[in-house]
Amino acid sequence: MSGLFDLTGKTALVTGANTGLGQAIAVGLAGAGADIVAVGRSAPDETGQMVAAAGRKLRAIPADLSSIAPIGAVMAEAGPIDILVNNAGIIRRADSADFTEADWDAVMDTNLKVAFFLSQAAARGWIAAGRGGKIIQVASMLSFQGGLRVPSYTASKSGLAGLTKALANEWAPKGINVNAIAPGYFVTNNTEGLRADETRSRQILERIPAGRWGTPDDLAGVAVFLASRASDYMHGSVVAVDGGWLAR
Ligand code: NAP
Repeated sequence: MSGLFDLTGKTALVTGANTGLGQAIAVGLAGAGADIVAVGRSAPDETGQMVAAAGRKLRAIPADLSSIAPIGAVMAEAGPIDILVNNAGIIRRADSADFTEADWDAVMDTNLKVAFFLSQAAARGWIAAGRGGKIIQVASMLSFQGGLRVPSYTASKSGLAGLTKALANEWAPKGINVNAIAPGYFVTNNTEGLRADETRSRQILERIPAGRWGTPDDLAGVAVFLASRASDYMHGSVVAVDGGWLAR
C-alpha cells in the first residue's frame, strides 16, 4: 500500500493484541505495512501468524498491565515505536449499590491509569527524540453514555475520552497525535456476558442501525487511518465506530 495510509517501516505497540479488537487492530496495522510489538499477559501466537501472513513481524513482550509496574521495562524492551495503541481493557459488572473497591480499582487501573502512563512513556521517547508519533486509545460507547451496572468501566472510558483531549492539547504542538476509537457493540470476550443475556442482547441489536453487532475487523480501517499520516491534523478526536448506535 502506498501514500496516505502507508505504514511501511513503522512499528506499532499494541496492548492486548492476542484476541478481540486488539488482534484485529494489530493485523490491520500490519496489513498497512507496520511491524507489531504485542504487549500483554497472554501469548499472541495466533496474532503472530496473522501478522506474518500479512508479511510483517510481530514481537511479543509479556506483561501484566493491571498496574504500571512493568511499563519501564516494556518500553525499554520495545525500543523505538511510532504508534501506540492502548487497547487492553477489562470490565466488571455489578449493581452500583453493591460495587466493590476491588472492581473499581482493577478496571480504573488497567483501562485508565496504565493507558495514561504508557502514553506518557511513548510521548517522552518521541519528545526526547524530537519527533512525533501516534497514540490511539480504545474508548467505548460508555465514553459518551452511562451504561448499566458497569460504573468503573464507564468512569474509565469517559476518563479516557477526557484524557485523549487533554493529551492532544499538550502534545499536538510536538507532532504527537492523540485520538481515540470508540467501538460500539462488538463480538469479543468483553461482551460475552451481554450476548449471553437474551433480553439485553436483543435490545442492543434492535438499536443498532446497521442491524448487526460489530466484528473486530470492522475497526481495522479506522485504526490504520489514525496511525497514518492521513490523520496528521486530527487531535483529540473520539471516533465512534458503532454501526450508527450513537446516531439513534
Ligand atoms: P477482550 O477480548 O476481553 O480483550 C481484552 C484484551 O485486554 C485481551 O488481550 C486481554 O488479555 C487484555 N488484558 C486485559 N487485562 C490485562 C492485563 N492485566 N494485562 C495485559 N493484558 C490485559 O475484549 P475486547 O472487546 O477485544 O477489548 C479490547 C478493548 O476494547 C478494551 O479496552 C475494551 O474495553 C474495548 N471495547 C470493547 C468493546 C466491545 O464491544 N467488545 C466495545 C467498546 C470498547 P487476556 O486475553 O489475557 O485477558
